[in-house]
Amino acid sequence: MNNTSYHQYLSEQIDDCLRGCGDAWEDSVNNHLNSVSEKLKSTFEDIIDLQQDFRLYQDSRRSLQNLNDFSTVIDFMEQLRITRGQQLLNEKAGIIAKQISKFKTDEEEIVFEGGDETLGLICPLTSRIPETPVISVKCKHVYEKNAILNYIRHGSGGGQVSCPVAGCGQFITAKDIREDEHISKAVLEAKKKDRAEEYQKLK
Ligand SMILES: [Zn+2]
Repeated sequence: MNNTSYHQYLSEQIDDCLRGCGDAWEDSVNNHLNSVSEKLKSTFEDIIDLQQDFRLYQDSRRSLQNLNDFSTVIDFMEQLRITRGQQLLNEKAGIIAKQISKFKTDEEEIVFEGGDETLGLICPLTSRIPETPVISVKCKHVYEKNAILNYIRHGSGGGQVSCPVAGCGQFITAKDIREDEHISKAVLEAKKKDRAEEYQKLK
């Protein structure tokens, strides 16, 4: 086996790993195994990093004359990594988003988990029923407007973050955040119910 076909073989092995991990991740999401899917998501991301690293390595080798000096190859890889930084990040986010789009969406179940309608209305960032409720159009999760917009703006994803609801993982941007009439009504109802319960306790 020569170098090129060996590299080809390694690339295919990595692709297989990514597919296998993606399938396992999908299964764990569909079966609501939240802690398993968190781990598989992180492994999925690691494999993408490995895939990108290997491509940087191959491209560096192709660009260099003297391949005997390994540290030159490594230096060249690091330069490529910097030049392509944004492109690599976008590519990674794209692969993850594509994978997530394969997952079954059972919206009612995701929004109103646990049978209590109020639970699905609690903002994952403030842990309270929002004053100004908004939803993400991608996954229909509910948040406090200011909290989620700040989270997106100041997050490390450059305007794109993964939904803060545990086990969701959907990538969202400020453009995906909307007010929703149905949710606003549900929030009003939940607050009325809360107040009524508090009033009962006082009596
Ligand atoms: Zn979500």
